[in-house]
Amino acid sequence: RYQSLAYDHVLETHRQHLSPVVTAYFQKPLLLHQGHMEWLFDSEGNRYLDFFSGIATVSVGHCHPKLNAVAQKQLGRLWHTSSVFFHPPIHKYAEELAALLPEPLKVIFLVNSGSEANDLAMLMARAHSKNSDIISFRGAYHGCSPHTLGLTNIRTFKMKLLSGMGCQSTMCPDVFHGPWGGSHCRDSPVQTIRTCSCAPDCCQAKDQYIEQFKDTLNTSVASSIAGFFAEPIQGVNGVVQYPKGFLKEAFELVRERGGVCIADEVQTGFGRLGSHFWGFQSHEVLPDIVTMAKGIGNGFPMAAVVTTQEIAKSLAKCLLHFNTFGGNPMACAIGSAVLEVIKEEKTQENSQEVGTYILLKLAKLRDEFDIVGDVRGKGLMIGIEMVQDKMSRRPLPQEEVNQIHEDCKDMGLLLGRGGIFSQTFRVVPPMCITKPEADFAVEVFRSALIQHMERRAK
Ligand code: PMP
Repeated sequence: RYQSLAYDHVLETHRQHLSPVVTAYFQKPLLLHQGHMEWLFDSEGNRYLDFFSGIATVSVGHCHPKLNAVAQKQLGRLWHTSSVFFHPPIHKYAEELAALLPEPLKVIFLVNSGSEANDLAMLMARAHSKNSDIISFRGAYHGCSPHTLGLTNIRTFKMKLLSGMGCQSTMCPDVFHGPWGGSHCRDSPVQTIRTCSCAPDCCQAKDQYIEQFKDTLNTSVASSIAGFFAEPIQGVNGVVQYPKGFLKEAFELVRERGGVCIADEVQTGFGRLGSHFWGFQSHEVLPDIVTMAKGIGNGFPMAAVVTTQEIAKSLAKCLLHFNTFGGNPMACAIGSAVLEVIKEEKTQENSQEVGTYILLKLAKLRDEFDIVGDVRGKGLMIGIEMVQDKMSRRPLPQEEVNQIHEDCKDMGLLLGRGGIFSQTFRVVPPMCITKPEADFAVEVFRSALIQHMERRAK
Protein backbone atom coordinates (compact mmCIF):
# COMPACT_ATOMS: atom_id res chain seq x y z
CA ARG A 1 0.00 0.00 0.00
CA TYR A 2 1.15 3.50 -0.73
CA GLN A 3 1.32 6.33 1.75
CA SER A 4 -0.62 9.28 0.39
CA LEU A 5 -2.52 12.40 1.17
CA ALA A 6 -6.03 11.51 2.29
CA TYR A 7 -8.16 11.01 -0.82
CA ASP A 8 -10.84 13.45 0.34
CA HIS A 9 -8.21 16.10 0.93
CA VAL A 10 -6.95 15.66 -2.62
CA LEU A 11 -10.47 16.02 -4.02
CA GLU A 12 -11.02 19.20 -2.01
CA THR A 13 -7.67 20.68 -3.10
CA HIS A 14 -8.52 19.87 -6.69
CA ARG A 15 -11.91 21.58 -6.35
CA GLN A 16 -10.43 24.68 -4.77
CA HIS A 17 -7.15 25.19 -6.57
CA LEU A 18 -7.12 23.40 -9.91
CA SER A 19 -8.73 24.23 -13.24
CA PRO A 20 -12.48 23.58 -13.13
CA VAL A 21 -12.43 23.19 -16.91
CA VAL A 22 -10.72 19.80 -16.68
CA THR A 23 -13.06 16.86 -16.19
CA ALA A 24 -11.83 13.66 -14.61
CA TYR A 25 -12.67 10.13 -15.70
CA PHE A 26 -14.67 7.95 -13.30
CA GLN A 27 -17.13 8.65 -10.48
CA LYS A 28 -14.23 8.47 -8.06
CA PRO A 29 -11.28 9.89 -10.01
CA LEU A 30 -8.15 7.78 -9.88
CA LEU A 31 -5.32 9.03 -7.70
CA LEU A 32 -2.25 7.59 -9.37
CA HIS A 33 1.00 7.23 -7.51
CA GLN A 34 3.36 5.22 -9.60
CA GLY A 35 3.91 3.80 -13.04
CA HIS A 36 6.04 1.04 -14.43
CA MET A 37 6.08 0.38 -18.17
CA GLU A 38 2.47 -0.49 -19.13
CA TRP A 39 1.23 -0.56 -15.52
CA LEU A 40 -0.11 2.16 -13.23
CA PHE A 41 -0.68 1.97 -9.47
CA ASP A 42 -3.16 4.02 -7.47
CA SER A 43 -2.89 5.37 -3.94
CA GLU A 44 -4.41 2.19 -2.52
CA GLY A 45 -1.93 -0.01 -4.34
CA ASN A 46 -4.37 -1.24 -7.00
CA ARG A 47 -2.77 -2.08 -10.31
CA TYR A 48 -4.13 -1.03 -13.71
CA LEU A 49 -3.11 -1.99 -17.21
CA ASP A 50 -2.72 1.37 -18.95
CA PHE A 51 -4.44 1.28 -22.33
CA PHE A 52 -4.56 5.06 -22.63
CA SER A 53 -0.98 6.10 -21.67
CA GLY A 54 -2.02 9.69 -21.03
CA ILE A 55 -3.54 9.85 -24.54
CA ALA A 56 -0.83 8.05 -26.45
CA THR A 57 1.80 10.13 -24.62
CA VAL A 58 3.75 7.44 -22.83
CA SER A 59 5.24 5.83 -25.89
CA VAL A 60 7.78 3.34 -24.57
CA GLY A 61 6.59 2.76 -20.98
CA HIS A 62 6.09 4.60 -17.70
CA CYS A 63 9.36 5.32 -15.88
CA HIS A 64 11.32 3.31 -18.41
CA PRO A 65 14.62 2.43 -16.63
CA LYS A 66 16.79 3.67 -19.49
CA LEU A 67 14.97 7.01 -19.62
CA ASN A 68 15.15 7.34 -15.84
CA ALA A 69 18.91 6.84 -15.96
CA VAL A 70 19.39 9.33 -18.81
CA ALA A 71 17.20 11.93 -17.08
CA GLN A 72 19.11 11.53 -13.81
CA LYS A 73 22.45 11.90 -15.56
CA GLN A 74 21.35 15.02 -17.40
CA LEU A 75 19.86 16.48 -14.18
CA GLY A 76 23.29 16.32 -12.65
CA ARG A 77 24.90 17.96 -15.67
CA LEU A 78 22.80 20.81 -16.99
CA TRP A 79 19.07 21.47 -16.64
CA HIS A 80 18.63 24.54 -18.68
CA THR A 81 20.31 27.08 -20.82
CA SER A 82 18.73 29.70 -23.00
CA SER A 83 18.60 28.84 -26.69
CA VAL A 84 21.09 31.65 -27.34
CA PHE A 85 23.75 29.19 -26.11
CA PHE A 86 24.49 25.83 -27.66
CA HIS A 87 24.59 22.52 -25.77
CA PRO A 88 25.39 19.01 -26.99
CA PRO A 89 22.00 17.29 -26.37
CA ILE A 90 20.15 19.58 -28.79
CA HIS A 91 22.56 18.94 -31.66
CA LYS A 92 22.62 15.21 -31.02
CA TYR A 93 18.83 15.13 -30.94
CA ALA A 94 18.34 17.31 -34.03
CA GLU A 95 20.60 15.01 -36.03
CA GLU A 96 18.82 11.87 -34.83
CA LEU A 97 15.31 13.19 -35.41
CA ALA A 98 16.17 14.63 -38.84
CA ALA A 99 17.50 11.20 -39.87
CA LEU A 100 14.04 9.76 -39.28
CA LEU A 101 12.31 12.12 -41.70
CA PRO A 102 12.43 12.02 -45.49
CA GLU A 103 14.00 14.77 -47.57
CA PRO A 104 13.40 17.72 -47.60
CA LEU A 105 11.99 17.67 -44.05
CA LYS A 106 15.21 18.38 -42.21
CA VAL A 107 14.84 21.58 -40.17
CA ILE A 108 13.71 21.16 -36.58
CA PHE A 109 12.11 23.69 -34.23
CA LEU A 110 11.79 22.47 -30.65
CA VAL A 111 8.90 23.62 -28.48
CA ASN A 112 7.03 22.28 -25.45
CA SER A 113 3.56 21.07 -26.38
CA GLY A 114 1.41 19.97 -29.29
CA SER A 115 -0.58 23.22 -29.26
CA GLU A 116 2.63 25.23 -29.38
CA ALA A 117 3.92 23.12 -32.26
CA ASN A 118 0.71 23.63 -34.23
CA ASP A 119 0.70 27.36 -33.45
CA LEU A 120 4.19 27.60 -34.88
CA ALA A 121 3.21 25.52 -37.92
CA MET A 122 0.32 27.94 -38.58
CA LEU A 123 2.74 30.84 -38.39
CA MET A 124 5.12 29.09 -40.81
CA ALA A 125 2.35 28.26 -43.27
CA ARG A 126 1.23 31.89 -43.30
CA ALA A 127 4.73 33.33 -43.46
CA HIS A 128 5.70 31.03 -46.32
CA SER A 129 2.53 31.26 -48.42
CA LYS A 130 1.79 34.91 -47.58
CA ASN A 131 -1.83 33.82 -47.29
CA SER A 132 -4.13 33.57 -44.27
CA ASP A 133 -6.71 30.82 -44.66
CA ILE A 134 -6.04 27.46 -43.10
CA ILE A 135 -8.31 24.43 -43.45
CA SER A 136 -8.77 21.53 -41.06
CA PHE A 137 -11.25 18.70 -40.74
CA ARG A 138 -14.39 18.73 -38.67
CA GLY A 139 -13.68 16.45 -35.76
CA ALA A 140 -10.00 17.45 -35.75
CA TYR A 141 -8.10 18.20 -32.55
CA HIS A 142 -5.00 20.31 -33.00
CA GLY A 143 -4.76 22.09 -29.66
CA CYS A 144 -6.42 24.47 -27.25
CA SER A 145 -4.45 27.70 -27.66
CA PRO A 146 -6.40 30.65 -29.08
CA HIS A 147 -4.94 30.03 -32.57
CA THR A 148 -5.16 26.24 -32.64
CA LEU A 149 -8.72 26.37 -31.27
CA GLY A 150 -9.57 27.55 -34.76
CA LEU A 151 -8.25 24.27 -36.16
CA THR A 152 -9.87 22.12 -33.49
CA ASN A 153 -13.39 21.28 -34.60
CA ILE A 154 -14.93 19.37 -31.73
CA ARG A 155 -17.85 21.14 -30.10
CA THR A 156 -16.82 20.40 -26.53
CA PHE A 157 -13.61 22.39 -26.97
CA LYS A 158 -15.18 25.32 -28.81
CA MET A 159 -15.59 28.42 -26.68
CA LYS A 160 -18.15 31.13 -27.20
CA LEU A 161 -15.23 33.49 -27.64
CA LEU A 162 -13.61 34.85 -30.71
CA SER A 163 -10.81 32.52 -31.80
CA GLY A 164 -9.21 31.01 -34.86
CA MET A 165 -9.38 33.91 -37.30
CA GLY A 166 -8.73 32.63 -40.81
CA CYS A 167 -9.47 29.00 -39.99
CA GLN A 168 -12.09 27.08 -41.94
CA SER A 169 -13.38 23.59 -41.33
CA THR A 170 -14.11 21.05 -44.03
CA MET A 171 -16.04 17.79 -43.95
CA CYS A 172 -14.13 14.95 -42.38
CA PRO A 173 -14.00 11.97 -44.73
CA ASP A 174 -15.06 9.73 -41.87
CA VAL A 175 -15.70 6.26 -43.25
CA PHE A 176 -17.91 5.24 -40.35
CA HIS A 177 -20.05 8.31 -39.61
CA GLY A 178 -19.92 10.08 -42.96
CA PRO A 179 -22.84 10.05 -45.40
CA TRP A 180 -20.97 7.97 -47.98
CA GLY A 181 -18.10 6.41 -46.15
CA GLY A 182 -20.38 4.15 -44.23
CA SER A 183 -22.78 3.36 -47.04
CA HIS A 184 -20.82 0.39 -48.22
CA CYS A 185 -20.60 -0.95 -44.71
CA ARG A 186 -24.20 -0.18 -43.85
CA ASP A 187 -25.30 -2.97 -46.17
CA SER A 188 -23.26 -5.41 -44.20
CA PRO A 189 -23.17 -4.65 -40.50
CA VAL A 190 -20.31 -7.04 -39.89
CA GLN A 191 -17.49 -5.31 -41.69
CA THR A 192 -14.19 -6.78 -42.51
CA ILE A 193 -11.45 -5.54 -40.26
CA ARG A 194 -9.45 -2.59 -41.55
CA THR A 195 -5.87 -2.83 -40.54
CA CYS A 196 -4.48 -0.10 -42.77
CA SER A 197 -4.56 3.58 -41.87
CA CYS A 198 -6.97 4.23 -44.68
CA ALA A 199 -10.12 2.27 -45.20
CA PRO A 200 -9.82 0.28 -48.40
CA ASP A 201 -13.26 -1.25 -48.16
CA CYS A 202 -14.79 2.22 -48.26
CA CYS A 203 -12.49 3.86 -50.75
CA GLN A 204 -15.23 4.25 -53.34
CA ALA A 205 -16.46 7.10 -51.12
CA LYS A 206 -13.21 9.01 -51.63
CA ASP A 207 -14.46 10.88 -54.69
CA GLN A 208 -17.55 12.23 -52.92
CA TYR A 209 -15.41 13.45 -50.04
CA ILE A 210 -12.96 15.07 -52.44
CA GLU A 211 -15.90 16.92 -54.02
CA GLN A 212 -16.74 18.28 -50.57
CA PHE A 213 -13.13 19.33 -50.09
CA LYS A 214 -13.22 21.18 -53.44
CA ASP A 215 -16.47 22.80 -52.37
CA THR A 216 -14.74 24.21 -49.27
CA LEU A 217 -11.88 25.49 -51.42
CA ASN A 218 -14.34 27.09 -53.84
CA THR A 219 -16.65 28.69 -51.32
CA SER A 220 -15.16 29.23 -47.87
CA VAL A 221 -11.61 30.43 -48.39
CA ALA A 222 -9.77 33.00 -50.49
CA SER A 223 -8.48 32.02 -53.92
CA SER A 224 -5.11 31.19 -52.44
CA ILE A 225 -4.63 29.68 -49.02
CA ALA A 226 -1.96 29.22 -46.35
CA GLY A 227 -2.35 25.55 -45.55
CA PHE A 228 -4.20 22.44 -44.56
CA PHE A 229 -3.80 20.51 -41.30
CA ALA A 230 -4.63 16.82 -40.94
CA GLU A 231 -3.99 14.11 -38.38
CA PRO A 232 -3.12 10.90 -40.26
CA ILE A 233 -5.74 9.24 -38.07
CA GLN A 234 -7.93 11.45 -35.90
CA GLY A 235 -7.30 10.71 -32.24
CA VAL A 236 -9.60 12.76 -30.00
CA ASN A 237 -12.46 12.31 -32.45
CA GLY A 238 -12.37 8.58 -31.75
CA VAL A 239 -9.74 7.05 -34.06
CA VAL A 240 -11.25 8.18 -37.36
CA GLN A 241 -9.74 6.93 -40.63
CA TYR A 242 -10.10 8.38 -44.09
CA PRO A 243 -10.67 6.65 -47.44
CA LYS A 244 -7.57 5.42 -49.17
CA GLY A 245 -6.04 8.08 -51.40
CA PHE A 246 -8.01 10.98 -49.91
CA LEU A 247 -5.07 12.82 -48.36
CA LYS A 248 -3.00 12.45 -51.50
CA GLU A 249 -5.61 14.20 -53.63
CA ALA A 250 -6.38 16.78 -50.95
CA PHE A 251 -2.66 17.67 -50.67
CA GLU A 252 -2.53 18.26 -54.45
CA LEU A 253 -5.56 20.56 -54.30
CA VAL A 254 -4.08 22.53 -51.41
CA ARG A 255 -0.77 22.98 -53.22
CA GLU A 256 -2.58 24.15 -56.36
CA ARG A 257 -3.96 26.96 -54.17
CA GLY A 258 -0.53 27.94 -52.88
CA GLY A 259 -0.98 26.29 -49.49
CA VAL A 260 1.32 24.01 -47.52
CA CYS A 261 0.29 20.64 -46.06
CA ILE A 262 0.78 19.94 -42.39
CA ALA A 263 0.69 16.47 -40.83
CA ASP A 264 -0.14 16.55 -37.14
CA GLU A 265 1.71 13.49 -35.84
CA VAL A 266 1.15 14.32 -32.18
CA GLN A 267 -0.62 10.99 -31.63
CA THR A 268 0.30 8.95 -34.69
CA GLY A 269 4.07 9.47 -34.78
CA PHE A 270 7.02 7.54 -33.39
CA GLY A 271 5.92 4.15 -34.65
CA ARG A 272 2.53 3.97 -32.94
CA LEU A 273 0.83 2.91 -36.18
CA GLY A 274 3.20 -0.03 -36.52
CA SER A 275 3.67 -0.27 -40.27
CA HIS A 276 5.32 3.15 -40.50
CA PHE A 277 7.23 5.46 -38.21
CA TRP A 278 5.06 8.43 -39.28
CA GLY A 279 1.35 8.29 -40.00
CA PHE A 280 1.68 10.35 -43.18
CA GLN A 281 3.80 7.56 -44.71
CA SER A 282 0.82 5.21 -44.54
CA HIS A 283 -1.10 7.67 -46.76
CA GLU A 284 1.79 7.85 -49.23
CA VAL A 285 2.03 11.64 -48.91
CA LEU A 286 4.90 13.98 -48.14
CA PRO A 287 3.85 16.94 -45.98
CA ASP A 288 5.63 20.29 -45.97
CA ILE A 289 5.47 20.56 -42.19
CA VAL A 290 5.19 17.83 -39.55
CA THR A 291 4.24 18.55 -35.94
CA MET A 292 4.91 16.14 -33.10
CA ALA A 293 4.49 16.01 -29.31
CA LYS A 294 3.25 13.50 -26.70
CA GLY A 295 5.18 10.28 -27.48
CA ILE A 296 8.27 12.27 -28.52
CA GLY A 297 9.27 12.62 -24.84
CA ASN A 298 7.44 9.59 -23.38
CA GLY A 299 5.61 12.04 -21.09
CA PHE A 300 8.37 14.61 -20.62
CA PRO A 301 7.08 17.96 -21.95
CA MET A 302 8.57 18.49 -25.38
CA ALA A 303 7.33 18.92 -28.95
CA ALA A 304 8.72 19.67 -32.38
CA VAL A 305 7.94 21.13 -35.76
CA VAL A 306 9.91 19.77 -38.69
CA THR A 307 9.93 21.48 -42.04
CA THR A 308 11.98 22.27 -45.13
CA GLN A 309 14.86 24.77 -45.40
CA GLU A 310 12.70 26.86 -47.70
CA ILE A 311 9.81 27.20 -45.24
CA ALA A 312 12.17 27.73 -42.29
CA LYS A 313 13.82 30.57 -44.21
CA SER A 314 10.43 32.17 -44.95
CA LEU A 315 9.78 32.24 -41.21
CA ALA A 316 13.22 33.64 -40.48
CA LYS A 317 12.60 36.49 -42.94
CA CYS A 318 9.56 37.55 -40.92
CA LEU A 319 10.72 37.38 -37.35
CA LEU A 320 13.07 36.30 -34.65
CA HIS A 321 11.38 33.27 -33.15
CA PHE A 322 12.25 32.54 -29.55
CA ASN A 323 11.23 29.86 -27.08
CA THR A 324 12.66 29.75 -23.53
CA PHE A 325 12.22 26.04 -22.84
CA GLY A 326 12.03 24.59 -26.34
CA GLY A 327 14.97 22.28 -26.93
CA ASN A 328 16.20 22.40 -23.32
CA PRO A 329 18.96 19.90 -22.39
CA MET A 330 16.66 17.69 -20.30
CA ALA A 331 14.07 17.35 -23.07
CA CYS A 332 16.67 16.68 -25.76
CA ALA A 333 18.51 14.05 -23.71
CA ILE A 334 15.23 12.29 -22.99
CA GLY A 335 14.10 12.63 -26.62
CA SER A 336 17.32 10.92 -27.78
CA ALA A 337 16.83 8.13 -25.27
CA VAL A 338 13.23 7.63 -26.46
CA LEU A 339 14.49 7.17 -30.02
CA GLU A 340 17.09 4.70 -28.80
CA VAL A 341 14.50 2.65 -26.89
CA ILE A 342 12.15 2.62 -29.90
CA LYS A 343 15.00 1.14 -31.95
CA GLU A 344 16.50 -1.22 -29.36
CA GLU A 345 13.22 -2.61 -28.11
CA LYS A 346 11.59 -2.68 -31.54
CA THR A 347 8.51 -0.93 -30.19
CA GLN A 348 7.28 -0.01 -33.69
CA GLU A 349 7.34 -3.69 -34.67
CA ASN A 350 5.58 -4.49 -31.41
CA SER A 351 2.89 -1.92 -32.22
CA GLN A 352 2.32 -3.63 -35.51
CA GLU A 353 2.23 -7.14 -34.08
CA VAL A 354 0.35 -6.62 -30.82
CA GLY A 355 -1.84 -3.87 -32.32
CA THR A 356 -3.06 -6.12 -35.12
CA TYR A 357 -3.52 -8.93 -32.58
CA ILE A 358 -5.75 -6.66 -30.44
CA LEU A 359 -7.66 -5.40 -33.49
CA LEU A 360 -8.48 -8.92 -34.60
CA LYS A 361 -9.55 -9.97 -31.11
CA LEU A 362 -11.75 -6.89 -30.76
CA ALA A 363 -13.26 -7.61 -34.17
CA LYS A 364 -14.57 -10.87 -32.70
CA LEU A 365 -16.26 -8.86 -29.93
CA ARG A 366 -17.74 -6.56 -32.56
CA ASP A 367 -19.28 -9.61 -34.22
CA GLU A 368 -20.50 -10.94 -30.86
CA PHE A 369 -22.10 -7.77 -29.43
CA ASP A 370 -24.59 -5.56 -31.27
CA ILE A 371 -23.50 -2.52 -29.22
CA VAL A 372 -19.95 -2.70 -30.59
CA GLY A 373 -20.56 -0.86 -33.85
CA ASP A 374 -17.07 -0.64 -35.21
CA VAL A 375 -13.51 -1.58 -34.38
CA ARG A 376 -10.92 0.36 -36.31
CA GLY A 377 -7.44 1.77 -36.27
CA LYS A 378 -3.92 0.73 -36.97
CA GLY A 379 -1.08 -0.53 -34.81
CA LEU A 380 -1.61 0.61 -31.24
CA MET A 381 -4.14 3.31 -32.07
CA ILE A 382 -7.51 1.59 -31.92
CA GLY A 383 -11.08 2.80 -31.53
CA ILE A 384 -14.09 0.81 -30.35
CA GLU A 385 -17.30 2.54 -31.35
CA MET A 386 -20.19 1.91 -28.96
CA VAL A 387 -23.64 2.09 -30.57
CA GLN A 388 -27.25 1.45 -29.61
CA ASP A 389 -27.36 -1.15 -32.36
CA LYS A 390 -25.36 -1.88 -35.49
CA MET A 391 -28.04 -0.90 -37.98
CA SER A 392 -28.84 2.56 -36.55
CA ARG A 393 -25.24 3.34 -35.54
CA ARG A 394 -26.63 5.83 -33.04
CA PRO A 395 -24.17 6.39 -30.18
CA LEU A 396 -24.70 4.36 -27.04
CA PRO A 397 -25.94 6.82 -24.36
CA GLN A 398 -23.10 8.30 -22.37
CA GLU A 399 -24.26 6.90 -19.02
CA GLU A 400 -24.05 3.40 -20.49
CA VAL A 401 -20.60 3.96 -21.96
CA ASN A 402 -19.53 5.49 -18.63
CA GLN A 403 -20.62 2.38 -16.77
CA ILE A 404 -18.71 0.04 -19.10
CA HIS A 405 -15.68 2.32 -18.75
CA GLU A 406 -16.01 2.23 -14.96
CA ASP A 407 -16.42 -1.56 -14.91
CA CYS A 408 -13.23 -2.01 -16.96
CA LYS A 409 -11.38 0.24 -14.51
CA ASP A 410 -12.67 -1.78 -11.57
CA MET A 411 -11.31 -4.91 -13.24
CA GLY A 412 -7.89 -3.27 -13.74
CA LEU A 413 -8.04 -1.88 -17.27
CA LEU A 414 -7.80 1.82 -18.13
CA LEU A 415 -9.30 2.76 -21.49
CA GLY A 416 -9.52 6.20 -23.11
CA ARG A 417 -12.59 7.89 -24.55
CA GLY A 418 -13.15 9.85 -27.73
CA GLY A 419 -15.70 10.98 -30.29
CA ILE A 420 -18.20 13.85 -30.34
CA PHE A 421 -20.52 11.96 -27.97
CA SER A 422 -17.66 10.34 -26.05
CA GLN A 423 -18.98 7.11 -27.53
CA THR A 424 -15.66 5.62 -28.60
CA PHE A 425 -13.25 3.74 -26.40
CA ARG A 426 -9.67 4.50 -27.31
CA VAL A 427 -6.94 1.89 -27.04
CA VAL A 428 -3.52 3.57 -27.15
CA PRO A 429 -1.29 1.68 -24.70
CA PRO A 430 2.44 2.19 -24.26
CA MET A 431 4.12 0.42 -27.18
CA CYS A 432 5.78 -2.13 -24.88
CA ILE A 433 2.49 -3.96 -24.32
CA THR A 434 2.59 -7.79 -24.62
CA LYS A 435 0.16 -10.32 -26.07
CA PRO A 436 -0.75 -11.86 -22.68
CA GLU A 437 -1.63 -8.35 -21.45
CA ALA A 438 -3.66 -7.79 -24.60
CA ASP A 439 -5.53 -11.05 -23.83
CA PHE A 440 -6.23 -9.79 -20.31
CA ALA A 441 -7.51 -6.45 -21.62
CA VAL A 442 -9.82 -7.97 -24.21
CA GLU A 443 -11.16 -10.44 -21.63
CA VAL A 444 -11.86 -7.58 -19.18
CA PHE A 445 -13.62 -5.60 -21.91
CA ARG A 446 -15.70 -8.65 -22.85
CA SER A 447 -16.70 -9.18 -19.21
CA ALA A 448 -17.76 -5.52 -18.97
CA LEU A 449 -19.89 -5.93 -22.10
CA ILE A 450 -21.53 -9.06 -20.66
CA GLN A 451 -22.26 -7.21 -17.40
CA HIS A 452 -23.78 -4.42 -19.46
CA MET A 453 -26.02 -6.80 -21.41
CA GLU A 454 -27.15 -8.41 -18.15
CA ARG A 455 -28.03 -5.00 -16.69
CA ARG A 456 -29.95 -4.15 -19.86
CA ALA A 457 -31.89 -7.43 -19.73
CA LYS A 458 -33.11 -6.74 -16.15
N1 PMP B 1 -2.66 17.56 -31.88
C1 PMP B 1 -3.22 16.39 -31.57
C2 PMP B 1 -3.51 15.41 -32.66
C3 PMP B 1 -3.52 16.07 -30.24
O1 PMP B 1 -4.10 14.90 -29.96
C4 PMP B 1 -3.21 17.00 -29.24
C5 PMP B 1 -3.52 16.70 -27.77
N2 PMP B 1 -4.55 15.86 -27.52
C6 PMP B 1 -2.63 18.23 -29.61
C7 PMP B 1 -2.36 18.47 -30.93
C8 PMP B 1 -2.30 19.27 -28.58
O2 PMP B 1 -1.25 18.84 -27.79
P1 PMP B 1 -0.98 19.52 -26.34
O3 PMP B 1 -2.07 19.04 -25.42
O4 PMP B 1 0.39 18.99 -25.99
O5 PMP B 1 -1.00 20.97 -26.53
